[in-house]
Amino acid sequence: MKYVLVSDLRTKGKFRLFPSTAYSISPLDHGILYGDGVFEGIRIYNGRIFKLKEHLNRLWKSAAYIGMKVPFSKEQLSKAVASLARKNKIFNGYCRLVITRGIGDLGISPRKCSMPTTFIIVDQIMLYPQEYYENGLPIIISSIPKIPRECLNPNAKVCHYESNIRAMQEALRKGAREAIMLDTKGFLAECTGDNIFLVKGKTLHIPTTRNILAGITRETVIGIAKRMGLKVNERDIKPAELFMVDEVFLTGTGAEIIAVNKINSRKIGSGKAGPITLKILRMFRAETLNPKNSYPIQ
Ligand code: PMP
Repeated sequence: MKYVLVSDLRTKGKFRLFPSTAYSISPLDHGILYGDGVFEGIRIYNGRIFKLKEHLNRLWKSAAYIGMKVPFSKEQLSKAVASLARKNKIFNGYCRLVITRGIGDLGISPRKCSMPTTFIIVDQIMLYPQEYYENGLPIIISSIPKIPRECLNPNAKVCHYESNIRAMQEALRKGAREAIMLDTKGFLAECTGDNIFLVKGKTLHIPTTRNILAGITRETVIGIAKRMGLKVNERDIKPAELFMVDEVFLTGTGAEIIAVNKINSRKIGSGKAGPITLKILRMFRAETLNPKNSYPIQ
């Protein structure tokens, strides 16, 4: 039996453990009614929570962006995630940490939401099949642009993924597995749940953080690349450049580092995961096991 940890108005703001099928979010929770909330997806490797500090820092910034105070301390949330991982016996898996505005009334105004709802899920993660890590993932360039940062800062990880979901549906309709979204000026932004890297010679070219989520995996990969002696060039990138590079790969907590083999059905590089992508993936996996980067479950 898997459990979830939940704190909301009904638990009087204290974490309570529920069997995962027994708890239900209130229909009046503004997370459900309006996607009003913030979240993090975090990996657990080898009994340790990877980059937990970075994820919690980002969660706090996201909450501040939407004008919501996280109802726990970072230490309390760290301990809560660790205890749930132990309870669910997940030593390699995934944690979803969500904080919504909480239970209110039907109006948009968050004023009636007196207490945020916090819930934590720790479970196994369904990766892409191994074949994609070796052969790459087919993706498309979506016709749906990112919501401009003036409307919604992409660096806040808010529970509002409808345009990403529409871009993903477009990808699936076209037989692909991910979609690159452009910014409203037509430069590359990011995929629906991952950041994008282009490899040309010994340089990695990446979109600036102006119109993307500054991914924690992206940051880890930038560090790895520098140690490998690669240059990292953060700049505006036109979609046409995708077809002029040696390799393209995506980074994200769920996907880790995954090569792209086709974009809009056109072959990228050799059409398989390239040597730089594979080396970065190997180094990333080693980094996930370095205790310096993580918080213990035990
Ligand atoms: N962009 C978007 C839109 C995402 O949802 C994610 C996944 N959180 C990422 C990028 C990658 O970020 P991270 O490496 O922190 O998981």
